[in-house]
Amino acid sequence: MRPNLRATVLLALLSAASSQAGQRAGATAAELYSAAVAREDALHAAAGRAPVPLKDYRAAANAYDSVVRRHPTSGYVDDALWRGAALAREAFERYGDDRDRATARRMLALIVSDYPLSPFVPKARDLASRLQPAAQAPTEKGAEKPATPAPAQPPPAVPKPPPATAPAAVSPVPPPPVRGPVSLARQLGLGAAKIVVDPGHGGHDPGALGAGVSEAETVLDIALRLETLLATAGVDVVLTRRSDEFVPLEKRPAIATREQADLFLSIHINASRVQSVRGVESYVLNFATDSNAEAVAARENASTEQTISSLPEIVKAIALHSKLDESRSFAGLVQRALVAGLRPANKALTDHGVKQAPFVVLVGANMPSVLAEVAFITNPQEARLLKTPAYRQRIAQSLFDAVRSYQISLKSAALLPRR
Ligand SMILES: [Zn+2]
Repeated sequence: MRPNLRATVLLALLSAASSQAGQRAGATAAELYSAAVAREDALHAAAGRAPVPLKDYRAAANAYDSVVRRHPTSGYVDDALWRGAALAREAFERYGDDRDRATARRMLALIVSDYPLSPFVPKARDLASRLQPAAQAPTEKGAEKPATPAPAQPPPAVPKPPPATAPAAVSPVPPPPVRGPVSLARQLGLGAAKIVVDPGHGGHDPGALGAGVSEAETVLDIALRLETLLATAGVDVVLTRRSDEFVPLEKRPAIATREQADLFLSIHINASRVQSVRGVESYVLNFATDSNAEAVAARENASTEQTISSLPEIVKAIALHSKLDESRSFAGLVQRALVAGLRPANKALTDHGVKQAPFVVLVGANMPSVLAEVAFITNPQEARLLKTPAYRQRIAQSLFDAVRSYQISLKSAALLPRR
């Protein structure tokens, strides 16, 4: 317990430090984005008390623009553009200056043209069409001329003064309608703020063994590296173990439930009787659909203290597992990030895809949960790679990228206040 408490305090300090980072010259995309979000939050808090000057709205939108300018290829860009456009629109609706409408339309157009795969594209199109000037010139360029005569119809939203008394935090921009199939978590705008990372095995259970490398030791090192990455980015992270100790399988999802985690990620390394088999696969909790997945679950479940008498409960838990869709989408991101992140160092890596099997370590987790098999310890080349800090860091970075992608995908459905 004490190491966990100490870690929590350390993480809180790290998160506090990372929120100051936006101003630094070499700030990362994550730092700039967090700084922009903090600025927006402050602006909305102030707007609830008194009118906020137009220049503050523009500065807040500009903070999102700087993420785009300085890190145009980062995963934060479409998110930044969307939030920046929403701020510019809000400024336009309050002050009626066409330049802010033009800013919003420019940011929305950039999402559509430069980030065609972004989940924001349909919403950006929709909002851009609603932000068209009423007297629309034949070319889009007309929108940028501020000296247009009074439009035939009033703009869609008349600039209105901020409410005189607004005790609670206000959400001045109604979220645009959400299109397409969107999961409940996304519909509700639930973010993933806390993650429990579970390094498999430990103590008397070394897990799978390869040439001079054990699963338990390797996944612990990867989990500690991942913890550092997440904590630095301001994500609340808890590890199920921080040393070479045995934690029963059933206790691991219980830790996630106790911590009220939003995500549970169990890290493992695969084994096969066929030495040439290599690569990565990601699992969600369900009944197995192929014999390989069954074998993996049997091996990973080997240390359970549960007996056959608890089988009906496990079956029931699987059948009632309500987070399957969310788990699948998280598993897809984990799998994609691992393949993309590891292939540069492991050209022959096989993408085994997202699979399902009845893992005890995932039973009872009431949040989206994924078990990642990040390599085959029985493959000589991958065993050699797993011994190097560089490859372990690569795995941690890939898992971090997956968590970030998942957070961004959750935020993308609706523009909601963060708290
Ligand atoms: Zn394992």
